[in-house]
Amino acid sequence: MHQMTLAEIARGLADKKFSSEELTRTLLARIAQLDPQLNSFISLTEDLALSQAKAADARRANGESGALLGAPIAHKDLFCTQGIRTSCGSKMLDNFKAPYDATVVAKLAAAGTVTLGKTNMDEFAMGSGNESSYYGVARNPWNLEHVPGGSSGGSAAAVAARLLPAATGTDTGGSIRQPAALTNLTGLKPTYGRVSRWGMIAYASSLDQGGPLARTAEDCALLLQGMAGFDPQDSTSIDEPVPDYAAGLGASIQGLRIGVPKEYFGAGLDPRIAELIQASIKELEKLGAIVKEISLPNMQHAIPAYYVIAPAEASSNLSRFDGVRFGYRCENPKDLTDLYKRSRGEGFGAEVQRRILVGAYALSAGYYDAYYLQAQKIRRLIKNDFMAAFNDVDLILGPTTPNPAWKIGAKSSDPVAAYLEDVYTITANLAGLPGLSMPAGFVDGLPVGVQLLAPYFQEGRLLNVAHQYQLNTDWHTRTPEGF
Ligand code: GLN
Repeated sequence: MHQMTLAEIARGLADKKFSSEELTRTLLARIAQLDPQLNSFISLTEDLALSQAKAADARRANGESGALLGAPIAHKDLFCTQGIRTSCGSKMLDNFKAPYDATVVAKLAAAGTVTLGKTNMDEFAMGSGNESSYYGVARNPWNLEHVPGGSSGGSAAAVAARLLPAATGTDTGGSIRQPAALTNLTGLKPTYGRVSRWGMIAYASSLDQGGPLARTAEDCALLLQGMAGFDPQDSTSIDEPVPDYAAGLGASIQGLRIGVPKEYFGAGLDPRIAELIQASIKELEKLGAIVKEISLPNMQHAIPAYYVIAPAEASSNLSRFDGVRFGYRCENPKDLTDLYKRSRGEGFGAEVQRRILVGAYALSAGYYDAYYLQAQKIRRLIKNDFMAAFNDVDLILGPTTPNPAWKIGAKSSDPVAAYLEDVYTITANLAGLPGLSMPAGFVDGLPVGVQLLAPYFQEGRLLNVAHQYQLNTDWHTRTPEGF
């Protein structure tokens, strides 16, 4: 039962082969048995899950249908869930029960999903290996000594280990696509504004975007359908009609123009990954795509620009955690300053403090022009590069990450080494573009992802191309041993 995709679950439920309650109990038992190895959940919500499953079964018995009605999922622990701990992977919010549901959570619940729990993540979504979580690292089911990627590492580990078919994630600089790549999943970061950020705890507001992690493009289409859409509560949400993503999956890709940036294949890319990317290009060519080399000349500036802009926004967003209104408060503060200092010093981990320091520095009066303003200009150049490229091609293809999953701890003493892993993913966030990662093979038994980027609001194109690829390859069907 645990091997089923969302699409298969929807058919099974519609055909009355099993009930949502049966499926939910099976998966909860599987989580209890296997998650101690993975640490992919911060909180389990068994009671909520069973009541949602029973409600979904009752709705089906009353003649309702829907691809997500009765489907078990989990939410990254930065989506607010009413009355349930929403920790953001931080000691700061270890005691925080959200007073309301995030729009994404509410929309998916209305569609009938069953929430099994809240998944592990890097603290405040800052990281690429799930190693900064207050709740400990999550492990990669393909090799338990390796990271599952981050920051949506718990969602990725859980779905890859078949603890559940799909989960939500968020992507500020790659946190859906990179863990998807490192655990053999399909993950989609939608266009900025496509999915509401209301109730999603902010890291860098101009970059953050929620999206689905699943095993197939088809399942990402189903989950995205439940997440996407205009939300008047989010001032950056875009009022554009949401297409029927599943209905768009059958289109031929004959004649589709795919651009492969020459800058993607420089030093730093594991040559074995480069080979697998070339093989995926061949596969798409067989399906009728026309592949050509393109250039994204400002790509080299993306990491420095991102690591100014994201910390700058984070330093502002995280100022709300002051030990007064909610979250962690230090013991016996001497005065107000001591309360602020110690609550933040004790409540935030090292990586979050590093980002706040960098961000506050970049925004300070003497340095704003030199750092923040320059980074914003680079951001525009990167966007312009993409706009120029999309005049000639329909899609951009390349690796999702330069390396496969690293060993837990291998990068802990060198934060910049971890930042460099984001080189292929952060440009889509800086430009606001949609991007998808899908399985493309293995290196030393560890999964490798290929990334597709599309023009604004072309999530459907990404999903369709990935679906066509998955109809003709079987990387995405491989299951980690022991799971
Ligand atoms: N690794 C990047 C960072 O640490 C991206 C994280 C994310 O997308 N949330 O900022």
